[in-house]
Amino acid sequence: MKTRNSIVILLVSILFLTATLAPATFLAETADAKTDPFAIALNHERDYLIVVNDNTPYDFDGIYDNLLQGDLVYISDVYGEATPVEKATALAFTQLQVALREKGLVIGLYSGYRTEADQGWVYNYYSNLEGWKEMNKVLKPGYSEHHTGLLLNIMILHPDDDGDDVWFTETAERQKTIPEFRILHETLADFGFIDRYPEGKEDITGIPCEPYEIRFVGSSFIAHTIMDNDLCLEEYLAGN
Ligand SMILES: [Zn+2]
Repeated sequence: MKTRNSIVILLVSILFLTATLAPATFLAETADAKTDPFAIALNHERDYLIVVNDNTPYDFDGIYDNLLQGDLVYISDVYGEATPVEKATALAFTQLQVALREKGLVIGLYSGYRTEADQGWVYNYYSNLEGWKEMNKVLKPGYSEHHTGLLLNIMILHPDDDGDDVWFTETAERQKTIPEFRILHETLADFGFIDRYPEGKEDITGIPCEPYEIRFVGSSFIAHTIMDNDLCLEEYLAGN
């Protein structure tokens, strides 16, 4: 009898805990689903806060990669080439493009998901490009966040000296001073994106400031927490 009472008390406690905890979780999820227009494309099995850097290589045999392979979609880049990107990232990116166009800013995709072989090509190409290696870090295959499908390189359409619109091909150093990047960075978080390699965080990210690298984190709430508090992704994760 005593055991049965204990079980009843235990069950009541579990029910009480579930009742008090569940609504909070449910509210958080529905709030995101309502406010985030890209939420419909999220794969809830995926870790949208995955980090890849010098200390954390990408696991090509891991569960993340298995999930990603089923979730890659193709969107057109600035050259009109079909470029693979994670599904929800692709939807959020097109929504970001529309919002920026209303502010008079046209952005295009330059690079998205990369295989290990893709990154090997990038590594060889940029390592041999004069002046590039001194100003930019070039990552070895396996250590690029492009393997996650969540990191995008974007370009901004901008008038050149003759007034013709061109996609940016200038150095990262010059890009930092271009006012359009401020408008871009102000708009990112509403669509679940962050500035992945911000200025002043080089020691933490291991990457020089690259204002054209935007990273999808799957939630506008998390993106705002990161951007509004001037954090980088590693700092946000260390505090949570
Ligand atoms: Zn990149």
